[in-house]
Amino acid sequence: MAKMLINGESVDSVTGQTYEVRNPANGDVVDAVPKGNADDARAAIDAAAAAFDSWAHTSAEERAKLLFKSSELVNANRKELAEVLTREQGKPLLEADTEIEHFLHGLEFYAGLASKVRGAQVPLPAKNAYGMVIRKPLGVCGAIVPWNFPITLMGTKVGPALAAGNTVVVKPASTTPLCSIRIIELMNQAGLPKGVLNIITGPGGVVGEELLKNPKIRRIAFTGESSTGKHVAEVACADFKRVTLELGGSDPMIVCDDADVQKALSGAMVGRFWNAGQACLAVKRLYVFETLFDEFVSGLVSKVARYDVGDGMTKPEKPKIRMGPLHTAAQREEIESQVADAVSRGARVVLGGSRPEGQQYEKGFYYNPTILVDVPDDARAVTEETFGPLLPIFKVSSLDEAIDRANGSIYGLGSSIWTKNIDTIDTAVDRIQAGNVWVNSLHYGYDELPFGGVKASGFGREHGPEALDYYLEPKGVVITR
Ligand code: NAD
Repeated sequence: MAKMLINGESVDSVTGQTYEVRNPANGDVVDAVPKGNADDARAAIDAAAAAFDSWAHTSAEERAKLLFKSSELVNANRKELAEVLTREQGKPLLEADTEIEHFLHGLEFYAGLASKVRGAQVPLPAKNAYGMVIRKPLGVCGAIVPWNFPITLMGTKVGPALAAGNTVVVKPASTTPLCSIRIIELMNQAGLPKGVLNIITGPGGVVGEELLKNPKIRRIAFTGESSTGKHVAEVACADFKRVTLELGGSDPMIVCDDADVQKALSGAMVGRFWNAGQACLAVKRLYVFETLFDEFVSGLVSKVARYDVGDGMTKPEKPKIRMGPLHTAAQREEIESQVADAVSRGARVVLGGSRPEGQQYEKGFYYNPTILVDVPDDARAVTEETFGPLLPIFKVSSLDEAIDRANGSIYGLGSSIWTKNIDTIDTAVDRIQAGNVWVNSLHYGYDELPFGGVKASGFGREHGPEALDYYLEPKGVVITR
């Protein structure tokens, strides 16, 4: 059985209770983990608080070395880790391995930055005086992670937090704790001092809630649904914690009439159906110029038909590509009800729209990749986040119409525009309400660039050197000679 890791020790919950983690592909039990409570969370927070001063005063060079060493050790166990991730999450092995790779790249990115943090010297109007800005770590950080990319989204929090000299308590999603626990164990084995990096498991409303309320936690990095994010903000901000919220999205993709159609088709396919569509930055609304519309829809339908739905541990015959199950039964039901709602309002299903049939699918949460057209703007598939393999495609007649409709969402996470015209690019980059615009590029969160949202997609940024700003407090110092 997997255990929590608190103060460098693998431990059970003080309650002695456990729960099972099940494989979404077939319902098998993958492993069991402790069902932690608030006392367990407090033990982890106390350990991280005790470790903080020493870690904050460890040289940045030394912190970087330990992060690089952690990365090496995780990499050495990559195959085993990817398999665990596939079993608990459902994503195909190739995607699980890519996720571990992204985690390692991010960890090394922040390891490299650890010793490059700069302050400032500032001239002052006062006589014989000058100012300095020094940057101090905040203290204990709570990292609350969702189930869709459990490893990369843990890395986007742990990497900058540790590089900047903070200590961390990780709370993975209840359904995806196993690969995360294994990675935290490996990072501790790599030499991180006791208490610097801890992981606790249990219900979000219990152990996660303790992170939000406990006064020893000074920073909450949260990724999850916008509704949970609202609660996180209410509770954690009321305790004056520094909070960043990476929330839901409904990314628009705009394909103009001068786009490279083949590249845009690949961008739409991977952008929507990677991880069975369960990505915050997935393409969730596709706006295509009317001159291209029919060609684009039929091109996409034949490309997406290559997906073969099945267990992520197995590979289909080429040219088929694997798409895994949805992560939970509730996730599949949500997509089904969004499709039914769209159809009841006049939408047409041009691909999918159903569960795959056959005995091999009976125990998993499978759903066929689905493409809809003629979806009205008030359908749930447009107004809500669609967190699964469902893509509505809309016909637009101008750039203005495309941008207005792209902006007609409560969300503002990512977006993309596909065109060769520099004026169109400039207008889109300027006007689309989103934290990220990809131009002729796949929707993807590069470690090198800041990533985050506006509107109901949250606030604050992960990735990039910018993320360090959320883990370091500037301190103003006046020195008089
Ligand atoms: P969720 O909000 O249900 O859960 C996220 C995490 O919060 C889990 O670890 C959960 O246990 C914890 N939690 C739940 N209640 C809590 C509480 N009261 N206090 C503290 N923690 C609590 O989200 P999910 O279903 O796991 O993830 C899917 C959502 O995440 C989607 O909306 C997706 O768009 C979003 N997401 C956003 C980004 C981004 O970077 N913007 C990235 C990935 C996913």
